Amino acid sequence: MDTAARLLIHPSDDPQPFTSEVIDIDESWIRLSSTEFYPTGGGQPNDIGIIRFDGKESSVIDVKGRNEVMHLVNGEIPPVGTIVEGVIDSERRTILARMHTAQHLASALAHENWGGVTVGNQIGIESTRIDIQFEDRDTFDPQQLIEYMNDAIKANHTVKMDNRSLDELKADPMVRIDLNRIPNVSSLRVIDIDSIDVCPCAGTHVESTGVIPRVVLDRVKSKGSGKLRVSYCFE
Ligand SMILES: [Zn+2]
Repeated sequence: MDTAARLLIHPSDDPQPFTSEVIDIDESWIRLSSTEFYPTGGGQPNDIGIIRFDGKESSVIDVKGRNEVMHLVNGEIPPVGTIVEGVIDSERRTILARMHTAQHLASALAHENWGGVTVGNQIGIESTRIDIQFEDRDTFDPQQLIEYMNDAIKANHTVKMDNRSLDELKADPMVRIDLNRIPNVSSLRVIDIDSIDVCPCAGTHVESTGVIPRVVLDRVKSKGSGKLRVSYCFE
């Protein structure tokens, strides 16, 4: 059973409490019938938060797994069959959704302007880093990338979510990532930023770029032949 209710939700900053049922326990890890907690993956850290049940409260300190999402509980473990209210740490999730959406902008704009291909990323609370592979990295101007990102933030582009087939994505010139790395499934969750980028993604995003704070360059580091690690933070 797919328990990943988060994939149906967009935008996914400021998450609201949700109700679910404990369906499995493995030591301190619990599985819920449906969950909106984000598990570590795709370069984005997991959510944290609390679960409430029977007038009690325990912390959720780690979340992992793709479809069968497991929550590491610190405190009393509710038994199987318990109805719980899940409350995600909203401040942390909102920052991660903003950082993550900014990463889509950075990757798209690095590709659009310098032909750079994103080969890795790590979304963070304080700083987010992207590994970009260039044909000629000497032509890349990181400060210019930051300016382009801030222009796109200010333009308040709409961020949409929908589902598309792999064939549809292969025919779309706005798709910049290598789709050969994507599993051949019938339908993919796609994030579409108005006229900038179309990208299959299971992460958390904001509704429009205008809610993202201005970004500033954190650092640029060489990662070997043609590759740079570019980090940005919020102003
Ligand atoms: Zn994404």
